Amino acid sequence: MLVSGRSVGVVSTARITHATPACAYAKTPSRDWEVDGEMVGVAEGCTDIASQLIYNNSYAKVILGGGRQYFLGRNDLDPELNHTNSGRQRLDGVDLTQVWKDDKDRRKLSAEYVWNKSQFDSVDPRNTDYILGLFEAGHMQYELDRDNGTDGEPSLAEMTQKAIQILQKDSKGFFLLVEGARIDHAHHDNNARRSLYEVLALEDAVKVANDMTDESDTLIIVTADHAHVFNIAGYPKRGNDIFGVVDNVGEDAIAADGIPFTTLLYANGNSYDWGNRTNVSSIDTTHKDYLQVAAAPRSSETHAGSDVTIYARGPMSHLIHSVHEQHYIAHVMTYAACVADNTQRCDHLENRDPNSANKNHDRTYLYVMCVLINFLHLYFVHV
Ligand SMILES: [Zn+2]
Repeated sequence: MLVSGRSVGVVSTARITHATPACAYAKTPSRDWEVDGEMVGVAEGCTDIASQLIYNNSYAKVILGGGRQYFLGRNDLDPELNHTNSGRQRLDGVDLTQVWKDDKDRRKLSAEYVWNKSQFDSVDPRNTDYILGLFEAGHMQYELDRDNGTDGEPSLAEMTQKAIQILQKDSKGFFLLVEGARIDHAHHDNNARRSLYEVLALEDAVKVANDMTDESDTLIIVTADHAHVFNIAGYPKRGNDIFGVVDNVGEDAIAADGIPFTTLLYANGNSYDWGNRTNVSSIDTTHKDYLQVAAAPRSSETHAGSDVTIYARGPMSHLIHSVHEQHYIAHVMTYAACVADNTQRCDHLENRDPNSANKNHDRTYLYVMCVLINFLHLYFVHV
């Protein structure tokens, strides 16, 4: 993880031990080794991802997401479920949330552990330097299903805002990764409406980040790690509901078998109709539970090989352009942040007068946010 004396935060709507957030803080041969119960007999000497987050990353100031079950001992009561979820909780019996709290107490740091929205809302970022928020036993809820009441969960934008408020207090800057993880999950179920509303939740988070930072000192990168086999069919009338049936009458819109089709379709997945095409004109295809038809049967829709988009704003954003291999993005981030092999790049800036009128620019704040489209993730780095 990019640290180099700067503050660090990780935010995701998935389990915080899931693939993308774990990449920011853990090393493991298998993404599935999120908890010790997944490693029995196969991973002697290795440490599960949840343990790595708590024991090896005590400097991380912001940890917000789902996946509470992997941080509780197998006999611990889950505070939200009101029972143990022992099949998924930790075999070693360790309550890692308590380990996190004890570490902060021992070091006399201002820290809050929260697991619902009212607790989250009550955290004052002005006098809180460390926050651990685990809002679901597993993944957080889809935005379309989210309980935003006091017992519910914060939105991705709300988590992003709180994260930046806490991390921005560090005059040396910060790195923040924000993932809109569940865009991907809904696509895997051929559930376009839930997926696209997750995109809107991510858009809200990007707006928050843009509004709270200055492009003269903060690099924001928004991209995806892969696409999905998700398509928009042509020729519906202008203004037709994107979740609806292609409504043009005529040879442009009607399939060869005379049965209409929806604008949104998948190339594969669990909504394959086994050769009997359903007449979708008699179905509410705009409902959040409607699953768009897939062309080939699979238990789970797959990722795709098409290029994904990438956007950047702020210092060194000009390095993001045209078509890039994915690993290039990491080099841009380290170069812009003056870390890893690029520490010398900012040496001349360190010596400038901190009271100069242009001090923000002189300090070379770097705030990198990668938002992954389709499978949208946000990464923030702020130096
Ligand atoms: Zn996926």
